[in-house]
Amino acid sequence: MPSARPLTFVAVSSTGTPQFEPVTDADREVIREQLGRPPRALRAVAARCPSGHPAVVQTNPRLENGTPFPTLYYLTCPRLASMVGRLEASGLMREMTERLEADPGLADRYRRAHESYLAQRDAIEPLGHQVTAGGMPGRVKCLHVHLAHTLACGPGVNPFGDETLALLKATGWPSGDCAPSGE
Ligand SMILES: [Zn+2]
Repeated sequence: MPSARPLTFVAVSSTGTPQFEPVTDADREVIREQLGRPPRALRAVAARCPSGHPAVVQTNPRLENGTPFPTLYYLTCPRLASMVGRLEASGLMREMTERLEADPGLADRYRRAHESYLAQRDAIEPLGHQVTAGGMPGRVKCLHVHLAHTLACGPGVNPFGDETLALLKATGWPSGDCAPSGE
């Protein structure tokens, strides 16, 4: 058995502002390898894989050149990203969107996930609009966004991120190491 660290969730403070780790030079280099390009607008490491490398980064609401960059939490681990890609390819997002229309309680939790995402981003810098990411609050368009949100902010915040994480765990993740540049 590899001595993987347990998956840890970041505690969210009473003000609703998660306390994340600063990005070290070593992290920045690993993220560059993970993405295959220099990372942009890096703000913090919001979650790590059990092997220790960044899994989710928090980014600034604007790029260095001022361009709005509304996705606050970005999944960087290529192994996780490819596992999520396989889930997306199975048609899961259409099924989730349909459940949203049929289940007012789920729709309400998803709307609160959207509001929380927006509030955290606005606390850094308001972009002057309410567009978040991943299709929130009305549709489910990107499971990478939702998983990143759950890994960054913990369970009970984003219902579809929670579901995505549960599906990954059911397929055996986390197991072994995720190499920084792939599986
Ligand atoms: Zn990983």
